[in-house]
Amino acid sequence: MARITLSNLAHSYRPDPVSDADWALKELNLEWDDGGAYALLGPSGCGKTTLLNIISGLLTPTHGSVHFGDEDVTQLPTEKRHIAQVFQFPVVYDTMTVYDNLAFPLRNRHVDEATVRAKVAEIAEMTDLTSMLDRRASGLTADGKQKISLGRGLVRTDVNAILFDEPLTVIDPHLKFQLRSKLKELHNRIANTMIYVTHDQTEALTFADKVVVMNVGEVVQIGTPEELFETPQHVFVGHFIGSPGMNVIPCDVKDGAAFIDGVRVATANEADAAVTKGELGVRPEFVTFSDDGLEAKVVKVSDAGRFSIVETVCHGKPVKLVAPEGAPIPSETTRIAFKPDNTRIYVDGWLAGARGAA
Ligand code: ADP
Ligand code: MG
Repeated sequence: MARITLSNLAHSYRPDPVSDADWALKELNLEWDDGGAYALLGPSGCGKTTLLNIISGLLTPTHGSVHFGDEDVTQLPTEKRHIAQVFQFPVVYDTMTVYDNLAFPLRNRHVDEATVRAKVAEIAEMTDLTSMLDRRASGLTADGKQKISLGRGLVRTDVNAILFDEPLTVIDPHLKFQLRSKLKELHNRIANTMIYVTHDQTEALTFADKVVVMNVGEVVQIGTPEELFETPQHVFVGHFIGSPGMNVIPCDVKDGAAFIDGVRVATANEADAAVTKGELGVRPEFVTFSDDGLEAKVVKVSDAGRFSIVETVCHGKPVKLVAPEGAPIPSETTRIAFKPDNTRIYVDGWLAGARGAA
């Protein structure tokens, strides 16, 4: 096992990249600590699989380097990297039994048969395959085959890291929930570095101690689930994480402070003195009805179980707020306020200034 360091890494699938859009990964620097449980979260097409394949060696980056500990592995072939990788779709040996499929990575490493038996039994139990060990893999459903792929990824514990690329996509929802918590348990037990790629915030936030959020080939923020939720460094993170996402409200900026139609809005941070336009970022949980607030009009109320989502228009801008179940909701014209400690100014998408940043 080793720390994984990516330095000045960039990748283009084009032979001759010119514009920004030609790069699937823009220059990035990242360190993955030995033994960490990481999620790599971002929308489809943002470069997650590209990044994972560079770590495992299936892809050589256009520039930059990959180190495992002190060793530069950028040019090292994948089979010498000691990485286990589980792909989005099943990769199994159809003619072999489920048992032999699970045993394969261990036998390949000349592990003794007694250890193979014990390890296969443990992994089969975890992936719910115990009753199918003697069956041929070709007879299983897509769901069953993906469980084999997952099991094969987990069976070796002497690897530098285990990489999962949206491994639960083809798994049925009930089993998905079960496998997700088992993966987390397994990580706690074997303490191997795991990198779990997903576009699903719930999967990322339940699995990972640290989440790397990507958008269009760039890392936008790395943090614990709490940090991402509480202090998004970019409006994309605020919008992508949480349900409903953060409100992003255009505002004027004067002497570093935010104004909506000339009314000052207190915030946790300040912008640079030269800035004149920005956006206020505030989660719906931190917007309240308040007699001293800004004028707003309630346009829609939706029931979301233990709370309601109230959509308002405030000085021409849509603003959502969350009201606890049973709380009185004004029928039309009202006033709303933003909690200053949880309201931040963003400029060109990024959290303004160093002050207020986590
Ligand atoms: P994600 O896994 O986040 O969905 P990918 O890493 O697969 O994203 O893709 C990142 C970008 O690179 C996308 O624009 C995608 O179309 C492009 N891409 C991915 N694989 C290839 C390939 N083999 N050839 C050309 N372009 C590719
Ligand atoms: Mg992908």
